Amino acid sequence: MDADQIRQYLEFYQDLGIKTLYQRKGTVGAAAVETSESPADAIQASGSPAKGPGGPSGHPQGVRPTGVQSHDPRAGGTVCPTKLPAPAQPDITSRPTALPGITPRPEQQGGAGDATCPPQGEPLLAIQQDIGDCTRCRLHAGRHKIVFGVGNEHSPLVFVGEGPGADEDAQGIPFVGRAGQLLTQMIEGTARKEGINLKREDVYICNVVKCRPPDNRAPEPDEMEICGQFLYRQLLSIAPKAICVLGGTAAKAITGHKEGVTKMRGKWFAWRNIPVMVTYHPSFLLRGYNQEAKREAWEDLKKVLHFVYD
Ligand code: URA
Repeated sequence: MDADQIRQYLEFYQDLGIKTLYQRKGTVGAAAVETSESPADAIQASGSPAKGPGGPSGHPQGVRPTGVQSHDPRAGGTVCPTKLPAPAQPDITSRPTALPGITPRPEQQGGAGDATCPPQGEPLLAIQQDIGDCTRCRLHAGRHKIVFGVGNEHSPLVFVGEGPGADEDAQGIPFVGRAGQLLTQMIEGTARKEGINLKREDVYICNVVKCRPPDNRAPEPDEMEICGQFLYRQLLSIAPKAICVLGGTAAKAITGHKEGVTKMRGKWFAWRNIPVMVTYHPSFLLRGYNQEAKREAWEDLKKVLHFVYD
């Protein structure tokens, strides 16, 4: 990493209120983005004063995000009853076609008298047990661990990434590598700066596909189709107040929109009436030349955090 890239990284972390960065033992070159074993340590070092809820960029209580674009995988079907509060009812401005991965399988569909309603309130453990030692798609062949999801299963906020990388595959936990450390710092650092008391473990984090695609390639449509069933059930089970989608692949899978992430980011979409904020994938932000994208991602996160936690 050259001096300019290091400067850009440092500026980004400074923007987040992070003043101390740690170099992982034995690493050379990636020093500026590696943190201590607990990324929260770095956040703790920030001296930003906490504000009360209802910060300047937040949505006041009871006000929904405007300009929401919706993707209902059962487009044209019956609307299922939902336990979501009124603010999470988006204004539907577009209804794209369903994307693979988020359509309920017949055996997941339930609801008395309505074959299109999947079960509500299914425990995450039941979904994980259903996945089992999965061999449903070709990704199982190269995986070490299935990466189901991590965090608070009652969280009002869910982050969805694309699929596990090497570190996640080794540990069975999403977003634990470099991109994951950045995600943690973005969540905790932005929350802290905005006066919101939030740690990584308070939110829920998962991916569209649960097994690592070889060589970190993007998941194929059929892999997302098969594995997306489980994401669908996870989201239904948690029923968060909002979903924050990381990167173009997950954005397309969840919203059904096909524009690039640069067009979609910062806007509200919807998945089954749950507001969805699209932002950049942290891996993209780790590339040294993305200073503007980093600032935009920070803005996106502020928006979603205020919407959920104000
Ligand atoms: N990238 C992802 O999309 N998900 C992870 O869990 C890690 C990296």
